[in-house]
Amino acid sequence: MIIAEKAQKVITDVLIVGAGPVGLFAVFQCGMLKMRCHVVDALDMAGGQCTALYPEKPIYDIPAHPSLTGQELVDQLQRQIAPFNPVFHLGQQVETLHKNDDGTFEVTTSRGTHFHVKAIIIAAGSGAFGPKKPPLRDLEAYEGSGVFYYVTSKNLFKDKKIVIAGGGDSAIDWAIILAELASKVYVVHRRPQFRGAPDSVEKLHALAKDERIELVIPYQLSFLQGQNGVLSGVGVETLDGEKRLLEVDALLAFFGLSSNLGALAGWGLEGTKQTLTIDPTTASTNIPGVFAVGDVATYPHKLKLIMTGFAEVAQAAHAAYAFVFPDKALHFEHSTTSGVAGF
Ligand SMILES: Cc1cc2nc3c(=O)[nH]c(=O)nc-3n(C[C@H](O)[C@H](O)[C@H](O)COP(=O)(O)OP(=O)(O)OC[C@H]3O[C@@H](n4cnc5c(N)ncnc54)[C@H](O)[C@@H]3O)c2cc1C
Repeated sequence: MIIAEKAQKVITDVLIVGAGPVGLFAVFQCGMLKMRCHVVDALDMAGGQCTALYPEKPIYDIPAHPSLTGQELVDQLQRQIAPFNPVFHLGQQVETLHKNDDGTFEVTTSRGTHFHVKAIIIAAGSGAFGPKKPPLRDLEAYEGSGVFYYVTSKNLFKDKKIVIAGGGDSAIDWAIILAELASKVYVVHRRPQFRGAPDSVEKLHALAKDERIELVIPYQLSFLQGQNGVLSGVGVETLDGEKRLLEVDALLAFFGLSSNLGALAGWGLEGTKQTLTIDPTTASTNIPGVFAVGDVATYPHKLKLIMTGFAEVAQAAHAAYAFVFPDKALHFEHSTTSGVAGF
């Protein structure tokens, strides 16, 4: 994976906004048509929701893969696009868009990278997202060492004492998974009822009954205890002011995500607050040369599925060809005919 280390001026064929599964597959489809790509993502890793939200969960509806985890899907996509040498610009959001008189585009990012491109494929999911954080003092001091909002590897918590906070699917699923590995799992939720899938909630209560998990309900987080970025405890409190100190090594806070289209919302693209309207036959937005695919793209009866996004990407790449190579006719070819260098 080629990662651009510093801000630079980039001249290329296609800019892909978003390195989620759909943005990654856009590199493949563009590469097959000999269009060079650079990819921007707000997160500091590729993979979008699959990597950030469910790297270890199995996905069952990717064609020809009866089951693979979110991270395995992203790893396979990275392998599939490697022959096309895409360059990734991570940890930055796209900011401004300017269309030149010759139909090309200038795009800038929050880190000062400047792209001059012939087409843009927006694969921004539900926008640049980040975790909703609990309002705790000194939270930042422990982030990444004792406080986590995503689980990138469950082995990080092997034999550790942990607090999982939240009452939704992520909190419940990780409590069930980590009960196998961690030495102690507390689940803190401010209500007695959980909001997850009924089967999972049942499993959670069964684990609590077997004393493999301790439910700390109805409590909410009140403070962190530790020194020099090393967490040693999490204070919790009921609405009536009853307090407890849970001595733990880590806090996993799952309070959902906040996401927004950010500066994309000001690019003059038609859509809603969270989505961009496209013509599904080309994935084109209302600005010729700007395409949208995956979760961010909408049209009647749209299904927000990874495989839907993959199909949209094929439409977008074929339609983008006319902007990248205006003087060349596109002859449709199957991959079995064209082949892929490196395989
Ligand atoms: C728990 C869970 C389970 C799921 N299970 C399945 C399943 O079984 N099958 C299935 O098909 N789907 C599943 N999904 C949905 C699936 O993950 C999404 O449909 C898929 O991730 C959409 O891919 P995407 O590339 O369009 O967007 P995303 O994965 O959301 O990636 C978008 C990327 O764009 C970046 N971005 C956004 N805005 C900007 C900006 N302005 N500048 C720079 N970067 C930006 C974001 O940081 C992000 O990395 C699941 C989702 C969740 C949360």
